[in-house]
Amino acid sequence: MTVRRLEPHASTIFAEVSQLATRHDAVNLGQGFPDTDGPASMIEAAARAMREGHNQYPPGAGVPELRSAISGHVADHTGLTYDPDTEVLVTVGATEAIAGAVVGLVEPDAEVVVIEPFYDSYAATVAMAGATRRSARLVRAGDSYRLDVDSLREAFSPRTRAVLLNTPHNPTGAVLPREDLAELAALCREFDALAISDEVYEHLTFDGHEHVSIATLPGMRERTVRISSAAKMLNCTGWKIGWLTGPPDLVAGARAAKQYMSFAAGTPLQLGVAHALRHEDQWIRAVRAGMREQRDQLTGILTGLGIDVVATRGTYFLTADPRPLGVTDAARWCLELPERVGVAAVPFSPFVDDFAGEWSHLVRFAFCKRPEVLAEAGRRLEALR
Ligand code: PMP
Ligand code: GLN
Repeated sequence: MTVRRLEPHASTIFAEVSQLATRHDAVNLGQGFPDTDGPASMIEAAARAMREGHNQYPPGAGVPELRSAISGHVADHTGLTYDPDTEVLVTVGATEAIAGAVVGLVEPDAEVVVIEPFYDSYAATVAMAGATRRSARLVRAGDSYRLDVDSLREAFSPRTRAVLLNTPHNPTGAVLPREDLAELAALCREFDALAISDEVYEHLTFDGHEHVSIATLPGMRERTVRISSAAKMLNCTGWKIGWLTGPPDLVAGARAAKQYMSFAAGTPLQLGVAHALRHEDQWIRAVRAGMREQRDQLTGILTGLGIDVVATRGTYFLTADPRPLGVTDAARWCLELPERVGVAAVPFSPFVDDFAGEWSHLVRFAFCKRPEVLAEAGRRLEALR
C-alpha cells in the first residue's frame, strides 16, 4: 500500500541488518552506532532536566540554551557565526534536518544533485519532496576517494535547486579536500543552487585530514544549509538531536517543513546536549584518538583475512572489498554473514543507483566499537578463511 514514490525505500538497510544481527546474536558492525556512552555530565544534565520539570514541549526551533550553544560550537570550530534566533534550527536528528531542508526548500519540479554513494535517506527524502534526483559520483583517487567533477558538471542544470553533500563521507570514509569543495561551490554559484551539507562526522577525522565546511568557502554561507548531529559527536544516536544552521530564509524554509514533521525534539535531551556543547569540547576532541585506534584494529583484522580495505580518513566506517575471498554478490554476502559467522556489515548497494556497477561489490564495516568487541568480531570472522 506504500505510495509509489516511497516503494523503492520501503525498508532501510540499517534496520534490516540490525534485525539480522539481533536474531543471530551477531557483532553488529553494520548500523553505525558507538557502544560506549557520551560524556557523563551530558547524561546527568538531561536527567536533571527531567527531574527539574523540563518535560513539556520546547519551542519548535529548539530550546534557546541549545540554539545558543550550537551557535557557539559552530563558531569555535568553523569561524562561522549564526544567529541563534533566526539561523539555527534543532531537529530530530540530522535525518530530520535533511528532510526539513529538502522538503522545505525544493519544489516538486526541481532537481537535487546527490553524490554516489550517498547516505540512504537522501534518495528517500528527495522522493518525499517529489523532486528529481540527479547523480554525480565519487571516484577512487590514490588510497581514498574524491569528487568526480565531470560527473557533477553533468548532473547540474538550470533546474538544479540543491546539491546534497556529505563530508566526512559515509560510507567511504573519504574527507573531501578543499579543492573538491571549491569546484562544487563554483557550480552552486554558477547555477544558483543551494548546498545542503551533511557534516555529522565533522569531528571524526584522522591522520591530519581536516574537515572543511563548504559554508566557509567564498559566497557559500548564504546558500548553504549546514547539518550536524549530537548522535555522532557525543555518542548518543538514540537521543535523536540534530540541527541545521544557515541564513534566515533557508532556515525558515526548513522550519516550515520540520514543524509538521515532529514539531520539536525532546526537551530534556536538548538541554543535555546544550550542556555538552558548552562544557565537553575536550571530550568531543578526544574521541577521534580512540576511534583512530579502533579503525586500525579493524583494518588489521580485515586485511589479515585477505579483504581489501580502503584507507578511512574520517567517519567510523571502513570500505572493504571482499572479492579476494571469492565473494561475487556483496549484498547477499552481508545478508548471510550474521548467521554464517556472527558478524554484521552493510553492503554499498543501497547507497548507489546510477553508478551501482562501480560500487556494489563493496561492503561497509563500522569500527565504532570497544576494542574487545572488535577483537571478538575478528575471532568470528576467522571462519571465513
Ligand atoms: N547523515 C549521515 C551521513 C549519517 O551517517 C547519519 C547517521 N548518523 C545521519 C545523517 C543521520 O543522523 P541522525 O542519527 O542524527 O538522524
Ligand atoms: N547513520 C547510521 C549509519 O550510517 C544509521 C542510522 C540509521 O539507522 N538510520 O550506519
